[in-house]
Amino acid sequence: MNDAGWHAQETEEDVSDRHRLYGYTACFAGIPITMFCIAIIVALGEESFYVWVCGLIGIVTLTIVGICCYLNFAVKRVLSIALLATYANVWGIGTWEVLAGAYKQHQLALMLFIPLIIVSLMKNRMIFMLIPAQFGLVYFVSTRYAHEYFSDQFTDQNIVILGVLFAAMSCVVLFMSAVTARIRDKNDKKFMRVIEEKRVLSMTDHLTGLINRRALSDVLERTWNDTDEFTLAFMDLDRFKPINDQFGHAAGDALLYEIADRLSSDEDVQFAARIGGDEFALVLNSGINGKKADRAVKRIHSMITEDVVFNEHVLSFGTSIGYVQAKRDVDCASLLLPAAEISMRRAKITKMGWARYDVQEDDATMATAALEVAFKQALESGNIRAALQPIACAQSHEIKGYELLSRWVDSGLRTDPRPDQFIPIAEKLGLLNQLLRVTLEEALSTADLSGKFLSINISPAQIVATDFIWRLRRGLKAHNFPAENLVLEITEEVAFRNVEQNVRVLNEARRHGMTVALDDFGKGYSSLSIVEKLPLDKLKIDRSLVVEADCNERMESILDIALQMARKLGLESCVEGIEQESLARRVAELGATEIQGYWLGKPELVSATPELEAVA
Ligand code: C2E
Ligand code: CA
Ligand code: CA
Repeated sequence: MNDAGWHAQETEEDVSDRHRLYGYTACFAGIPITMFCIAIIVALGEESFYVWVCGLIGIVTLTIVGICCYLNFAVKRVLSIALLATYANVWGIGTWEVLAGAYKQHQLALMLFIPLIIVSLMKNRMIFMLIPAQFGLVYFVSTRYAHEYFSDQFTDQNIVILGVLFAAMSCVVLFMSAVTARIRDKNDKKFMRVIEEKRVLSMTDHLTGLINRRALSDVLERTWNDTDEFTLAFMDLDRFKPINDQFGHAAGDALLYEIADRLSSDEDVQFAARIGGDEFALVLNSGINGKKADRAVKRIHSMITEDVVFNEHVLSFGTSIGYVQAKRDVDCASLLLPAAEISMRRAKITKMGWARYDVQEDDATMATAALEVAFKQALESGNIRAALQPIACAQSHEIKGYELLSRWVDSGLRTDPRPDQFIPIAEKLGLLNQLLRVTLEEALSTADLSGKFLSINISPAQIVATDFIWRLRRGLKAHNFPAENLVLEITEEVAFRNVEQNVRVLNEARRHGMTVALDDFGKGYSSLSIVEKLPLDKLKIDRSLVVEADCNERMESILDIALQMARKLGLESCVEGIEQESLARRVAELGATEIQGYWLGKPELVSATPELEAVA
């Protein structure tokens, strides 16, 4: 069953489409060229039986080889036979004419050179085999011609020497062709073997020898295209970590190896892959669907969970399997594995051991999984775009800078997902840095930001990377954007996880001239201790403190306190969510330094950024 090199043979046997194209183009082009040559010979009055038969056999051979190349039918074998037939044809007709007493000089030249060209295209073993025949034929033809034209000048002995010389020279050429072809073949084979080994290695899980996640995607894509219906199962081990912790990694490895072995030798499993630490995926044999699949999965579940003995220790573990019927339950190959995984999670939570994907039960989870798949594609295909929202001086309303926000455009979904829907997905998939790179790159290369600051949103997961600031600076440098004009907006979560490390990164950012703003202040449980813990330059006061401040005195005094606090700590303040002019005026009176909100300007895609002018 499962064999990591499952398509190795295929590539060896295959003639690539490119080579087939060259093959039939050359053959079909060769037919009119051959006809043209025959016409010229006829026009010169040099036609003979030899020319007609050679020409006809040439055209037939080119047609057969061309058709075989086009249909990809035994191309290599047909080509070998065609070359051998052409060789036999050239010599056969030539010697036959000589025997019949027809001696033409151009014919001798053709007989001595054309076979050499044909032979140089053959495989080395065949060339070696033809050397004696070539010797005999060249000797025969050249001595006959010498007798015909030079018998009065050369003795019989000289004619024999001449024939042997011609034949030997011709065989040396053949021998050289064979040696070159052999070296070429050997190198080609070695090269192919290295490529094949590398390919197999890149598709194999080194510990278990099963195919890996990457190869599994290929298998699924193929099986999806070739089979009407098949079953994919996702298997995750239970209690694997405690085994690793208690008995060591050697025990964990032995367990994984044993499971891989059990899966490989199972009669119902067509492909098994190790796709994560203790996660496996199985494609069941075609025909194992519906009730048969239920029975097969139950049997595999109990077969897999039999204890494994390692160094006299009994390793007891469990497993949860989720499975999905491809084609009927899911309508896209890339959603198969997420669907099987979702049902596996249900099997784990319910402690059922196995669960079949069920549209009703797994639909909501599947929608999130589909969004994850779609988000990855959107990020790669340029559908995640940069938007800029202006931030202005609270007093003069002059635009000081912009906040960079992300937008998912042309998603193909009913409504394009909002940032609060896809940012958590990017975070879960570890794609926030890529998202930032894409949007920052677009903003810096498209918008005119000279003399303005740019405020970017940074999540706690991003600043844990030690090279985060270095990468950011490299991106800014590429666009000559001064680091002094970059503001990092962080949320208070940064203060709750890895405080020391985060503070170190933020200090590094400030050393390079960047400024740090605490975003969404007043939205959560912001406390003075957070403001004290983090190296800050600015507080961004959340919209929720502002919306009611216009008509609610209590809210206004909270806003007042927040702004006073910023002033006392020597921090700048930016009030978000300013939707009316009256609010803009009020927060300016309360001492805010900056304002941001729809009244000033909504976030606009950078490519569509209209005049971003001061509102005042
Ligand atoms: P945020 O950082 O607080 O960004 C401000 C949000 O408030 C934006 O929503 C903006 O469109 C909205 N907004 C601005 N002015 C007004 C206003 O006057 N009225 C109202 N009702 N809303 C206003 P958006 O773009 O939907 O982003 C939501 C959140 O998603 C952002 O909140 C930010 O935390 C996050 N986000 C957006 N883009 C990115 C990104 O590229 N990376 C990261 N890490 N987070 C992002
Ligand atoms: Ca923000
Ligand atoms: Ca905010």
